[in-house]
Amino acid sequence: MLAALYCNPEDLRLEQTPLPPIGAGELLLQVRAAGVCGTDLRIWHGGHRKFSPGTRRILGHEVVGEIAQCGEGTPGFQPGQVVFVAPNMGCGRCVQCLTGYNNRCADYAALGITLDGGFAEWMRVPAAAVQQGNIIPLAPDVDLAAAALIEPFACVLHGQDALHIQPGEVVLVIGAGPIGLMHAKLARLRGARRVVISEPLAERRLLAARAGADRLVDPLHEDLPAIVRQESGGLGADAIIVAAPSHQAQEQALQLAAIGGRINFFGGLPKDRPLIQFDSNLVHYKELIVTGTTACSTNDCRRAAELVNAGRIDLRDLVSQRFPLSQAPAAFAAAEDRKSLKIVIEPGLLEGTSS
Ligand SMILES: [Zn+2]
Ligand SMILES: [Zn+2]
Repeated sequence: MLAALYCNPEDLRLEQTPLPPIGAGELLLQVRAAGVCGTDLRIWHGGHRKFSPGTRRILGHEVVGEIAQCGEGTPGFQPGQVVFVAPNMGCGRCVQCLTGYNNRCADYAALGITLDGGFAEWMRVPAAAVQQGNIIPLAPDVDLAAAALIEPFACVLHGQDALHIQPGEVVLVIGAGPIGLMHAKLARLRGARRVVISEPLAERRLLAARAGADRLVDPLHEDLPAIVRQESGGLGADAIIVAAPSHQAQEQALQLAAIGGRINFFGGLPKDRPLIQFDSNLVHYKELIVTGTTACSTNDCRRAAELVNAGRIDLRDLVSQRFPLSQAPAAFAAAEDRKSLKIVIEPGLLEGTSS
């Protein structure tokens, strides 16, 4: 089968590899769509700790596929079913796994990270994933490229659970990448009365307008604090999501929050520069809650898939471009362009039909 194989930093190769054999409890999927994520780019550049020198692995952890073959002992699944695959498998034994937070497990396995993933024509699903509930059937009318975004959307859902957004609140999203726009869509779904997005790139502001922001701010040329005050009747933002790797944005969030406001540092900072100037008195006197979330659990994926299946959230406009598998390196290059949103590889797309 054709596969996009990570071989070395900056070395993504299209190769013919053997079709993975399927054992008891396992599934073989024909990959229909797989999203390219910032994590894939980090791996590609050699910046991921699970990829030691010499590792050769098929990337792709945001995967939708059609079941082609069922190993013995996979009740409830049959060939022809179209499913989304939650990528992370916890150890199943540690306290994090036992309390439902397999995203926090220190001893995790993940498709496309520690195991071969979905940038290939076919993907093997290990028995642990089948048993732990990672295989989630999709409704028949769901767009498959958009369904590949269920994983990042599950991370967004997990992130907003920590903020307890109430109907009628004012939400500020800093950063209008695909993650920021998913936050904006979800905040609307949760009843926010105003969703303000701050984004310095003009191209991204344009896309954010289409994704349903109530107010778009160019923080380089406009007065963000004044606009947040205006949008919130002078009170400040009830909930703030910092979805940009920006020290300044994290620091500023403390000032922009209302009394009793909640803040999520959703994006990490560069590993070698993680410190910020944190005004502790703002947290104290305004009774702020500052939190962080990372990745998503399998249950978050199931909830995200249910919202997509029910048509309650539409992620289609976040897909900038679709590429055939044979153009995987071009798909990676497109994903690096900060003006694009999500890039999705569809192995079934014919050569020369990227759209
Ligand atoms: Zn991802
Ligand atoms: Zn665990």
